[in-house]
Amino acid sequence: MILTQCAACAAPLGLSLGKKCGRCSTRYCGPECQKQHWKEGGHDNICKKIKKAGGAEQYNANTKYTEAVAVAAEACAEDTKGQTCYICTQAHHWKTKEGLVRGCSCRGTAGFAHVSCLAVEATILREEAEENNLGIKALNERWSRWDACSLCEQQYHGVVACALGWACWKTYVARPEADWARRLAMGVLGNGLSEADNHEDALSVQEAKLSMMRRLGASEQDLLRVQNNLAAAYFALGRDEEALQLKRDVYSGRVNMLGEEHEETLRAANNYANSLVDLERFEEAKALLRRTIPVTRRVLGDSSRTTLAQRCSYAESLYEDPGATLDDLREAVTTLEEVERIARRVLGGAHPLTVDIELELRDARAALRAREESASGDVSALCEALEAMPPGDAN
Ligand SMILES: [Zn+2]
Ligand SMILES: [Zn+2]
Ligand SMILES: [Zn+2]
Ligand SMILES: [Zn+2]
Repeated sequence: MILTQCAACAAPLGLSLGKKCGRCSTRYCGPECQKQHWKEGGHDNICKKIKKAGGAEQYNANTKYTEAVAVAAEACAEDTKGQTCYICTQAHHWKTKEGLVRGCSCRGTAGFAHVSCLAVEATILREEAEENNLGIKALNERWSRWDACSLCEQQYHGVVACALGWACWKTYVARPEADWARRLAMGVLGNGLSEADNHEDALSVQEAKLSMMRRLGASEQDLLRVQNNLAAAYFALGRDEEALQLKRDVYSGRVNMLGEEHEETLRAANNYANSLVDLERFEEAKALLRRTIPVTRRVLGDSSRTTLAQRCSYAESLYEDPGATLDDLREAVTTLEEVERIARRVLGGAHPLTVDIELELRDARAALRAREESASGDVSALCEALEAMPPGDAN
C-alpha cells in the first residue's frame, strides 16, 4: 500500500485508517470526504475505470507509470535522437508510441531502449526463472534487470530509474502483500523516486515498506536494508539528524551481522561518513574513512563505486574542514584527480557519481588555490616589509 493519504483532502491515513470506496478501494479519511469526492471531485466518473484497472493502487501505479515514461523520454530526447531500441529495434514503440531512454553507462549507439521494452524483458526473465524453478541465484540475477542495464551492468539513474520503478511496482502491486517480488518492487520504486529527486514520495514508500516488513516479520538484514533507504530519504529532505542516527544504526548492524569486510558493511560505512561530513563532523568522518578505505580497496578494488565514493567523501572531509592544512588540501585534490580519472573510465562522464566527483574536485582546487595565494601573499608582504627597512635593522 503506497496510497497513504485521503484521496480528497490528502490527510495522512497511515496503512489502515479511514474508509474505502466499496467498489474501487480508493481511500478517504471519512464519509464526508468520500461523499464530497463523489459529488464534486469527479470520483463518480472514474470509479468504474479504477475498479476495472484493478483497484486504486493498481490504477495509481498505471497512471504514474505513464507519466514517468513520458518524463523520462522527454529528458532523454536530445541523447536518443535518430536512435532505435536495442530490444524491439524501433524508434517509437509500436503500441505505446513512447520515445527512447538511456539512463545507464552505455555509450555511443549502445543502450537505447523503451521503458516498456525493458519492463517486459525484466518481467519475462523473472517469470521464466520462477516457472522453471531456477533457484534463488537466478531469481536475484534476473531481478536486477529492474534496476541495472543488461549491457553495461551499471544501475539506471535519474528519471529512467524512476520510470522503471513505476514499471516494476505496476507489474507486482496486485500480488499478495507477503509475495517477495511485490516487496522488492516497493524498494525499486522507492529508489527510483529518490533518483528522480522526488524525495517526499520516496520517503512515504520507504516508510510503508518498513512497517509492512515489520508486520511480516522480516529478517534483521532485510530491515537494515530498508532503514538504509529510509535514511537516504530523510537526508534528501534535510532531516539530517534522523538520517545520521539511522545510518549509524545500519552501519553498526552490518558490522555485527556481516563483519567489517562485507560489501554491504563498506557501503554502509560510506553512507554514515557522508552524513558526518554533511553535519560538519569532519574528525569523526576522517577517522571512519581512514579505517575503512584500505579495506574497501583491498576487498572491492579501486574501480568499484563504493571505493570511488569513499575516497571522494574522504577528500571532502579533508578540504571542507576549516582546520585543513595545506597538505590536507593538496591530498584532497590529488585524491579527487585520481578518483575522477577512474570514474570517467568505468562509469562514464554522465554518471551522477562522476559528476559529483568533478564538482568536489572543482571546489577542492578552488580551496587549494585560495590557500596558496594567501600564503604567497603573506610571503611577499613580508619580503616588502624587509626591503623597506634599513639594512642594519633587518634582524
Ligand atoms: Zn479527507
Ligand atoms: Zn470508487
Ligand atoms: Zn523497444
Ligand atoms: Zn547500459
